[in-house]
Amino acid sequence: MSDRARAGTVKHITSTQNPVIKAAKALQQRKARAESGLFLAEGHKLIVDALDEGWPPEMIIALEPKSDEEGVTKLAARVRAQGGDVIFTNIPVMEKLARRDNPQTVIGVFEQRFAPLETMTKGTVVALEGPRDPGNVGTIIRTADAVGASGLILIGAATDPFGVETVRATMGSIFHVPIARTDLARFSSFAVDFPGRIVGTHLNGTVDLRDVPAAEPQMLLMGTEQSGLTEAAASVCDPLVKIAMAGKADSLNLAVATAVALYELRRPFLP
Ligand code: SAM
Repeated sequence: MSDRARAGTVKHITSTQNPVIKAAKALQQRKARAESGLFLAEGHKLIVDALDEGWPPEMIIALEPKSDEEGVTKLAARVRAQGGDVIFTNIPVMEKLARRDNPQTVIGVFEQRFAPLETMTKGTVVALEGPRDPGNVGTIIRTADAVGASGLILIGAATDPFGVETVRATMGSIFHVPIARTDLARFSSFAVDFPGRIVGTHLNGTVDLRDVPAAEPQMLLMGTEQSGLTEAAASVCDPLVKIAMAGKADSLNLAVATAVALYELRRPFLP
């Protein structure tokens, strides 16, 4: 989209049928994200997080600011200075692009970034086998950020981490946590050479999570929402742990289980 060697342009678009607006709207669909390598992030805070992280947007689309609205004007200047384009628009266009329940006044279009799997060897790495729920994955990215985990690996048929719902649930952490994706076969050979312990969580785990001494590098491996870890994934783990439960619930929600395990495994490293 933009040429980063020059300042971004400013345009005014008022038609919901404008091709730029239609292309941005299409990024709500996984197919368009896969084809373009782009994604949407909504709201002022997320765009500031991205700029602070050195991940400037290709473009922002913002409600035309009123003369006294300094925030958007300043943000637009920052985006342009880093080569991103700025489109000022009206309420009907923003309504077409934004969520209905909490419409934002600015939306950013960003390039997706995936980290190479080989870089996931330091600190505490979180790996998820085939997670389907965007809210879970977004919440896990946010939690991984909060505990200072070094990265996330998505294995197999996982939900798109750059989907609108997932990005929303990360609350900006999508720009802070490196994400790698791989298939199970490649993950299994990567796991063989991983320089630390791989802690798998399983309802049939034989070790209590609280008895696992935290030591980095380490990897936490979580199973799918529906059926848990596959046998192939469980076989690379040592130990396979259970999170103690006292009531009648069969299991914890995936994001909750990940949070409990991450806080346990990162306990000595937290401030
Ligand atoms: N029916 C699934 C099963 O049989 O594993 C439940 C999956 S659970 C909703 C999603 C993931 O969270 C599991 O694969 C596991 O990684 C983790 N998990 C949830 N509760 C757990 C517990 N009490 N002990 C260990 N892992 C747990």
